[in-house]
Amino acid sequence: MSTTIYMDYNATAPMRPEVRALMMEVMGAPRNASSVHALGREARAMVEHARSTISRLTGAPPEQVVFNSGATEANNTVLNHFAQHAPNERILLSSIEHPSVLDSPSHADHIPVTPEGLIDLNALEKLLQDKKTALVSVMLVNNETGVIQPLRDISALAHKYGALVHCDGVQAAGRIPININTLGIDFLTLSAHKIGGPQGVGALILGLCGITPTLLHGGGQEKKARAGTENVTGIVGFGKACEIAIAEMTKYQNLETLRDQLEDRLRSIEGDIEIHGEHAPRVANTSMFSLPGMRTEAALMALDLDGIAISNGSACSSGTVHPSHVLKAMGADDTQASSALRISLGWNTQPSDIERFIESFSKLHARISNRSS
Ligand code: PMP
Repeated sequence: MSTTIYMDYNATAPMRPEVRALMMEVMGAPRNASSVHALGREARAMVEHARSTISRLTGAPPEQVVFNSGATEANNTVLNHFAQHAPNERILLSSIEHPSVLDSPSHADHIPVTPEGLIDLNALEKLLQDKKTALVSVMLVNNETGVIQPLRDISALAHKYGALVHCDGVQAAGRIPININTLGIDFLTLSAHKIGGPQGVGALILGLCGITPTLLHGGGQEKKARAGTENVTGIVGFGKACEIAIAEMTKYQNLETLRDQLEDRLRSIEGDIEIHGEHAPRVANTSMFSLPGMRTEAALMALDLDGIAISNGSACSSGTVHPSHVLKAMGADDTQASSALRISLGWNTQPSDIERFIESFSKLHARISNRSS
């Protein structure tokens, strides 16, 4: 097999070499940030430095950053808190959320999206008028389509009706500026491995509402907001990845040129390709498209055999491919939802990767066309 072309950054990004080097160094000594000896104090300083970098990325004061094991934990922490503490009030989730939001509370209602994948603000307002709502949860950027939600408008509506706002910002970090205050976010979820940091570490950022949802109890770590020995190496890696993301935010936008070239080339191969969320604001790196006649699973396998790593949108833990719930929420029929591929580019994507993908996709397309003719 030829060298793998990696275009699945929304599933996980390759670790930045600077992050790996720093983590190797930190890993070399026993470091518990709660120990009082010199190594412990050094570890504490490292954790606090990372906390201040995450604070710079999000506009939240450092004391509002709570480290944890990643976005799944952060999403569960917030959603479970509201399901337990406001059992008679409504929880509203957008219908295109990640499963770690959708499957997490015991009760919730869904906010519909438009065919372009944007929250239907009129529908949201009707839902808010209809019943007392404790929490509205809407992601800033969708992991499948890359569509950016109008979070400021969503938060303003939620707050008008007395609801708080949770935002899964995993796919927005490092791609677009995030400011928890101007966006009106009360709880923000981040994950290190989508921005070139390590897997298994992330953060829940608290807004100014004064509520600290807590899932794990026991130790006093993270000011009792998240018990368990801090993952010092992971947190340091997360901080470094955020530092690079902040420095390269402008450069990141260049990916849009590559993404647009890729979409133009796809269209020249097959005019019937439908690009999902094309007319909505999107982050620079993501393209999700459907090709009638193609089966997602077969296409992923064929491309994989040719050394191309992409996905169908939801990296499912069982490794199986399901029709996208995001596309279905956008009004796609079963055929479109079962014939979708997602390409997501990132910090190490080269123009030659686009060429290799197009070459491989052309072969696949020719085989599909021959079969159906
Ligand atoms: N939310 C979104 C939007 C995601 O893309 C992901 C990762 N697939 C998660 C949450 C879960 O993140 P983690 O791997 O840190 O648990």
